[in-house]
Amino acid sequence: MLVGVPKEIKPSEFRVGLTPEAVREYVAAGHSVIVQTGAGLGIDKDDDIYRRAGAEVVGTAAEVFARADMVVKVKEPQPGEWVQLREGQILFTYLHLAPDPDQAKGLMASGVSAIAYETVTGPGGGLPLLAPMSEVAGRLAIEAGAQALRASNGGRGTLMGGVPGVLPARVVVLGGGVVGTQAARMAVGLGASVEIFDRSLPRLRQLDEMFQGRAITRFSTAGTIEQAVAQADVVIGAVLIPGASAPHLVTRAMLPDMKNRAVLVDVAIDQGGCFETSHPTTHENPTYEVDGIIHYCVANMPGAVPLTSSYALNNATLPFGLALANKGLKACEDDPHLALGLNVHQGRIANAAVAESLGFS
Ligand code: NAD
Repeated sequence: MLVGVPKEIKPSEFRVGLTPEAVREYVAAGHSVIVQTGAGLGIDKDDDIYRRAGAEVVGTAAEVFARADMVVKVKEPQPGEWVQLREGQILFTYLHLAPDPDQAKGLMASGVSAIAYETVTGPGGGLPLLAPMSEVAGRLAIEAGAQALRASNGGRGTLMGGVPGVLPARVVVLGGGVVGTQAARMAVGLGASVEIFDRSLPRLRQLDEMFQGRAITRFSTAGTIEQAVAQADVVIGAVLIPGASAPHLVTRAMLPDMKNRAVLVDVAIDQGGCFETSHPTTHENPTYEVDGIIHYCVANMPGAVPLTSSYALNNATLPFGLALANKGLKACEDDPHLALGLNVHQGRIANAAVAESLGFS
């Protein structure tokens, strides 16, 4: 199969669909890969590195879209890309179609078979092609919180780990899933005092076992959260209720009881946010203040570290991408988890949950 990688064109997107190492795996499996010139510059990989990995480097995205049997990307295609996709072609990328009917119609009109990373499932449950980005965001959340805590950035001037004789920062993590666990690990590593909240007792038991007393687990109720947030220096919002908007676990009414210039990091902002006062921010302008509390609510946190994020994403997508390259869409017949990734096929929305969210069913 001929696999094509265009340069990402969404603003501030520096990741790339295939790393040179992934290209080498496709080529070793007998496939050909074409890469648009400059596609890897955001991860410091120039055209020569891609050539050495076995790719043919081409001058334009138009050539990639015209020649490739399968297009591998990171972000959802932009309107100028929908019209270049065609029937018989496979698109493998993040799509997030549910809130985006225009894109859904554009892909349906193109005739492409589009497989969305975010709806591929794993044998033990979970979303294996979303998890790596949650791992990145969780680890970054603590770096973001530590930065925002600095007085020069408007924070209350607390060092995460304290020093001998001075208390460390208190970090409250709301949601003990992928993001929350990685955030807690980073906070523990810096020497902060860490509490993790979840509503799942089995998950709290796993976390208790994992952290061996270096982080405290707590059952999440309005009362326990209210008490912990009032004493926190940093609160990480990392809850997810699948298919629903994030619940507002920290309300505006709770802010006056918090420490002055404490920090809220709302990783769940892409699901609406779990603090009532959250609104999406950008890497260029990541924080704002409400009632003396610093808010960090960047919706595409992994975009800050495109090199790490591209490799993390490729590690997860490679087996599925190779299966598609080897077998075409038959790979979906052979793997029910990959089949759930098929969002658009033969001009229709192929994933029932996505169709229902779009109101297209
Ligand atoms: P996850 O499913 O692994 O974990 C979510 C956890 O929240 C679960 O353990 C669940 O039991 C818990 N939870 C649900 N309701 C709760 C409540 N009321 N109180 C406490 N815990 C509760 O999800 P994840 O992969 O960790 O993702 C978390 C959020 O981060 C999602 O909204 C995801 O979209 C978002 N995210 C954002 C970025 C970004 O760049 N901003 C990047 C990756 C992920």
